[in-house]
Amino acid sequence: MSGSGRTDLAESFARLIRSDGPMPVARFMGESNARYYAARDPLGAAGDFVTAPDISQMFGEMVGLWLVDLWVRAGRPADAIYAELGPGRGTLARDALRVMRGQGLEPQVHLVEGSPALRKVQGEALPGAAFHDDIASLPEDRPLLLVANEFLDALPVRQLVRTEAGWRERMVALAPEDTADVPGAAFVFTAGTQPMDAAVSERWRGAPVGTLIETCPGAAAAMAELARRLTTQGGAALLIDYGHLAPRAGSTLQAVRAHAKVDPLALPGEADLTAHVDFAMLAEIAQNAGVPWIAGTTQGAWLGAVGIEARAQALSARAPERAEEVAAAHRRLVHGDDMGDLFKVFALSGGGWPPGAGFAPQA
Ligand code: SAH
Repeated sequence: MSGSGRTDLAESFARLIRSDGPMPVARFMGESNARYYAARDPLGAAGDFVTAPDISQMFGEMVGLWLVDLWVRAGRPADAIYAELGPGRGTLARDALRVMRGQGLEPQVHLVEGSPALRKVQGEALPGAAFHDDIASLPEDRPLLLVANEFLDALPVRQLVRTEAGWRERMVALAPEDTADVPGAAFVFTAGTQPMDAAVSERWRGAPVGTLIETCPGAAAAMAELARRLTTQGGAALLIDYGHLAPRAGSTLQAVRAHAKVDPLALPGEADLTAHVDFAMLAEIAQNAGVPWIAGTTQGAWLGAVGIEARAQALSARAPERAEEVAAAHRRLVHGDDMGDLFKVFALSGGGWPPGAGFAPQA
């Protein structure tokens, strides 16, 4: 933070906007998150947010069970690797790998992680893991068992807004002078001047003035690469995040700091900026790439279908003094008022691998 109460990144954004004009929301979000994640471990009670793997070991265990079941049905290929995107503290991987090893699957571990601070934490939790800057450098010659929890929501979204004059990119501008020294009021949203109609899909072309849509080029690129790899290398992927399975409009940009929502423009680099994941768009990309099995459901439904109830009972029976804690974690993960409905589980498999468990059969 600088003396004015603004973050250093806010100062440099302000300088940039003063000289070059408003900047796209996607750039603001991308640079904020790169700064945010690079230097800290934001997870857990003492940090900014808590994720499912930290709520309970049951979460990673269900992921491990799902993967090992698929692997067994695929004929137990010995060279399959475990890959995770944005593994946080490595908690999910540790819990999933414990279950997998118990069933005879001992995969090499490959982690795609951008943050030096989190790589250090992950290296300690998962000795021997290989690190990657990007999904593109994962091994090309073996089946992939890929997992990502709350990774895609951190990738920058581009926002497009329908104005009287047509579609425009949503930008970040400087607030009028009189509010510029109020922390949090320094930046405001504005519509860009360049026509963006060509970037809008058929579905939204005729939407009324004021409609806002989001696209996530990073998630789209990751899905295209993943789809190509699953069909050529074989394997399966499980992507879990808050988002929607059907197309929808509206801004979902939000910022979280110390477990509370804050103004997304107020503290660039000091708050976690996220957007809902558009699984409908990701499904379309995978489908166009020829992925044979694609499925999605809610986190609550999926965890229920793969047997979290039985696991919760077993944990409680083994440690009755923890029964209440286990029941609370179970509820938090599956209940519709909590994470159960908001979070979606999206899965795909290809290259001769079978469909995964826990999803309704495809129509
Ligand atoms: N999956 C973990 C952590 C979620 S937080 C959990 O469920 O607890 C988001 C994770 O993605 C962090 O590890 C963060 O450093 C990483 N990340 C965010 N943007 C990234 C990017 N562009 N490239 C690589 N990793 C990124």
